[in-house]
Amino acid sequence: ALNQELLTRAQFLKEVSLPYFKRKDSDFHDLQNHLQQLDKVVYSRFTIIDARGKVLADSRKDSESMDNHLYRPEIQTALTYGKGEAQRFSDTIKLNMKYLALSLQDENNLLGFVRVALPVREIIEEQQQLAAYVFAGCLIATLIALGFGFYFARGFALPVIALTKSAEAIAQGDYQQRVYLNNKDEIGKLARAFNYMAASAYDRMERITEDRNKLSAILSGLVEGVVALDHQQNIIHINNAAARTLKISASASIGSSVWSSIHIVEIHDLLQKIFTQGGVSQAQVRIPGEKSDTVIEVYAASLDQGSLGEKNRQGAILVLHDISELEMLENIRRDFVTNASHELKTPLTAIRGVIETILSDPTMDKETLWHFLQRMQGQTERLVTIVSDLMALSRLESGKNNDFQPVSLKAILNQSIKVFTTIAAEKNITISHNLDSINNEQSRVSGDAHALGQLTDNLVDNALKYTPASGSVDIELNIKDAEHRIELRVRDNGVGISKANQARIFERFYRVDKGRSRELGGTGLGLAISKHITEQHHGSISLESEPGKGSTFIVSFPML
Ligand code: ADP
Repeated sequence: ALNQELLTRAQFLKEVSLPYFKRKDSDFHDLQNHLQQLDKVVYSRFTIIDARGKVLADSRKDSESMDNHLYRPEIQTALTYGKGEAQRFSDTIKLNMKYLALSLQDENNLLGFVRVALPVREIIEEQQQLAAYVFAGCLIATLIALGFGFYFARGFALPVIALTKSAEAIAQGDYQQRVYLNNKDEIGKLARAFNYMAASAYDRMERITEDRNKLSAILSGLVEGVVALDHQQNIIHINNAAARTLKISASASIGSSVWSSIHIVEIHDLLQKIFTQGGVSQAQVRIPGEKSDTVIEVYAASLDQGSLGEKNRQGAILVLHDISELEMLENIRRDFVTNASHELKTPLTAIRGVIETILSDPTMDKETLWHFLQRMQGQTERLVTIVSDLMALSRLESGKNNDFQPVSLKAILNQSIKVFTTIAAEKNITISHNLDSINNEQSRVSGDAHALGQLTDNLVDNALKYTPASGSVDIELNIKDAEHRIELRVRDNGVGISKANQARIFERFYRVDKGRSRELGGTGLGLAISKHITEQHHGSISLESEPGKGSTFIVSFPML
């Protein structure tokens, strides 16, 4: 800028002085005055020099007193190149100055030189100003760059922040999170890919949850108990059936070791076996209970991964099957067969004995033979009774014979009383009843007349059998309108039944006093049959009794 300034001024000076050179009788004094005026205004030294170096005019000093300037460096350079520059301390004005000289020519004739000088201080000032401009420029440029940088960085950082936030939310389990960006660039693509990933992760999660719910619904619906163990034998799943069978809490045992949760040695042995050998193993376990034992069949299977050579135990599955009821039924069946065989064997043995006696004595008199044949008849009678009772029982248990019709309990009871009047009279027992106060209509129930007759016969027969001579039997029929039921009570004042026996007399073949029952022609099946008949008619049977005082059997049916 300074050089340009010097050059402009020099060119200006050249134009101003050129007419002076061209004229022959120019008064350079006049020009000098002009230059002095000009210097005051623009503050720069102007010098006019002729072709030989003589100073013609100067704005700071009298030209007459100045030495020849031809050898000043700027003049020398201007002499050669038309323009010359130099900087040095000027003795004339005692300042460090910068000079610029231009040569003046007139068609190849050198006319002279013009020279402009400015103090370097100004130059420095200018330079400083320039530096300030540069600095300010740099600062502005930097700020703009920063602004752009920030803008672009923000454009890049904001989506990344949004993505990070969403990723964190998803990690926390919020699968509905999405990133909404309008960017067309790579970030936009990333956001779309991220959303797609979130959606498919959500779908997969939903499917996993659904599968897990299905599985746990299936497991909890299973009758069999299922326990799943991990490779460290910790319980990872236990369904309700298993918890119930093992009498432990499902929620408390999940996560804990099988050793601390299940205290059954057989199960531990089973697990030890399959965790060392793999495969499937089975055992039967009896868990003692307050009322009855629980019997469970346990299957243990190891869950393996890998080839045969190096199998990796992933865990194990225990399947528990409560077979208590099955076992109980099996026991009942076994007892029944034993009892039935035993019951049948007694009369058969008796008959065989009689036959052998008859055969061993061919000369037996007619009267003795008659006596033996009568005994045989009695035993055969007994066999027939047992077999027909067994058949009745089996018919009842098979659930057939549901051909129900409205029947009058009063009529049925009257029939039973009629049948047993003779027997009662023989024992001098009176049978009292309240049947006359009830009409046939009222006492109607839906049922099988033959079966109900069997039931009432049994109860009246028992009352007479287990009551000593001169006792009494009372039959009562009560219509219970409020409960919509009909209740039958058969009361005697006979031997009675102890509490312990009360619980068992409805069992097949159960008799309090075997000898006595047999003597009275009992089979021990009567009450079992009675109970079946009652249940078949949707009724209930119970008893109240005290040994030595008598018993009351109470049967109740829903009213028609
Ligand atoms: P049983 O053919 O021996 O009579 P039940 O099944 O009818 O067989 O009765 C079972 C047992 O219940 C009888 O052996 C008897 O010991 C007892 N029992 C039944 N009814 C009475 C009663 N009214 N009084 C006393 N004991 C009875």
